[in-house]
Amino acid sequence: MAKIKSIEKGFCSLCGRALLPNEGYGRLRDGGHICSLCTGKIRVMYPLSLTWDKKGNEVRHDPIEELSPEEAGKALENVIAYTEELRAKYDHHNAAFAVESVTTEKGGFLKPPIIYACGRVIYGCFDPEDKARLLHKGSASDITLTGIKRLEFYGAGVSDCQGTGGNSCALVFSGKNLACEAGDLIVRD
Ligand SMILES: [Zn+2]
Repeated sequence: MAKIKSIEKGFCSLCGRALLPNEGYGRLRDGGHICSLCTGKIRVMYPLSLTWDKKGNEVRHDPIEELSPEEAGKALENVIAYTEELRAKYDHHNAAFAVESVTTEKGGFLKPPIIYACGRVIYGCFDPEDKARLLHKGSASDITLTGIKRLEFYGAGVSDCQGTGGNSCALVFSGKNLACEAGDLIVRD
């Protein structure tokens, strides 16, 4: 007999999709749940904030969990207009990333250093191998991303993650004589 997949948490409060444990889902203030797709769509309006306690344990603050189903539904309706406003604010780039801290690593013999720009995707998405531009103090440098990494308390971690709007992550790239520091922007067109 075929195994029947169990649907543990019922259905998404916003779109009605079945919530599958392997896809992940979010919680709302009233205890209802929203699916990973709806969470991903409105994340840009409600960025996840990650901090770490003294022992290095991740402390997540997710503003989506404070929304009522009505507020979350409104967010889903408004997210395209919201993102368009952000795009206008950032010169209509397809994606923008705010650099909050930077770590570097030696690139090996005759290779430029590897730069881990830690911060937050303001909107849009970044993927490995994307061509992007680093905007540093009025100068723009072309870069090619080599990875998108999860943040850990010490900086960029080793595991990959998605560089989508509202999420914190590290963009990885390398290049000769590149200066990158907190306050810089990385954009993709
Ligand atoms: Zn949904």
